[in-house]
This record gives sequence, C-alpha cells and structure tokens, in this order.
Amino acid sequence: MVPYDQIFENNRRWAETRRQHDPQYFARLAKDQRPDYLYIGCSDSRVPADVIMGVEPGDVFVHRNVANIVANTDLNTATAIEYAVVVLEVKHVIVCGHYNCGGVQAAMRPRDMGILNPWLRNIRDVYRLHKDELNAISEEGARYDRLVELSVVEQCINVVKTAAVQHSYLKRGYPRVHGLVFDLRTGIIKDLGVNFEDHLRAIQEIYNLTDAPWPVGDR
Ligand SMILES: [Zn+2]
Repeated sequence: MVPYDQIFENNRRWAETRRQHDPQYFARLAKDQRPDYLYIGCSDSRVPADVIMGVEPGDVFVHRNVANIVANTDLNTATAIEYAVVVLEVKHVIVCGHYNCGGVQAAMRPRDMGILNPWLRNIRDVYRLHKDELNAISEEGARYDRLVELSVVEQCINVVKTAAVQHSYLKRGYPRVHGLVFDLRTGIIKDLGVNFEDHLRAIQEIYNLTDAPWPVGDR
C-alpha cells in the first residue's frame, strides 16, 4: 500500500517532471479541455482509463461507476453524457468493461446485496435478456466473460437511447459509440465491434428522441 503522505511526494515529483519537460504544460492544461473521448468505465482500481488508453490529461472525459453501467434513471451518468456530448462535443463515446469484474460477479450471486441490489439488477437484467446464450456456456469463467461483453453492448445501447447522443449525431455526425473490454490477464483492450449505426436505427424505431424520421444512420 502507498502511505498517504507518499501521495503528495509523488505528486510533487510528477508536477516537477512535467514542468521540466514542458514549462508551459500546466498553463495550457489550466486553460481549457477539448477531449475527443467520453470514457464510461468501471470504478475498479485496476482499470485506469487514461493509462490503458495511453492518453494524456485533457484527452479523455471520464465517468466511472461500479460495473460501468449506464442506467436510464441515473442522473450522474446522464449528466456526464450530456456534458461530454453537448458541451465538449466529444467525437467518441467508449463504454469499457473488464473481465474479472467484481460487480458483474456479485450480480450473478444469488444473494441479497442490500443497497447494491437495484444497481446490480441492471446486470441481472442483461443476463435475463441473454439467458439462453449464457446458460449454454458450461464453463463458469467463460460465462462471466461473455456476460461482461454482453453488458457492455447493452450499456452502449443505453447510451444511444439518450437524446443528447441522438441529437448530436443527427446534427454533426458524431459521437459514435464503441464497446470495449479490457482484459486484466493480458493488459489488452478488445473492441467488441458494436455496430453503432445498426443499433441507432433499431433504437430509433422505439426511442426516437429527435423530430427527424429514422433511420438517421442512412444520412
Ligand atoms: Zn469492474
């Protein structure tokens, strides 16, 4: 464990190194942010967004919660999406899950998890939606891995359901929504190949929040 006092020593050294490499670094950083990415990921301490993506401060707007869930009634996630899409005009929205996710595993235990129940129910709902596919996987680890992937896809769909994303895509042609999974066992990020246009078209049959006729993806 890193002792508490060590954090300030580390920070001082980091700031000093940055200044040495680029004297204007903090002046520039303090001015504004123009990130191209909104990253929605898990709070898990082993999955730091900017580190695994190899990007710098200012490159990615980050929202993290337990098990990277985009719940329809969650004002916190909704605010992050709204701000990133409408104000920052990000070009890409990334939902990034990870294998060995404690939140996903907790959701699959038949147990009363108290205050966590309504949150983890979002993952149990994903399981219910894809029960046949998941139950056909006999090995438990492989089943969890697949649930992690399917949950990311469902959270991507929840992002596409938002008015901010639909309006922005119709007006500007972005953001596009991507589903990724980080593998803690290899350090590699996998793109799940979520077909953004197909999802948008399907979603707009029911969740069209723009005045435009669907499918906007054909524009
Ligand atoms: Zn997790």
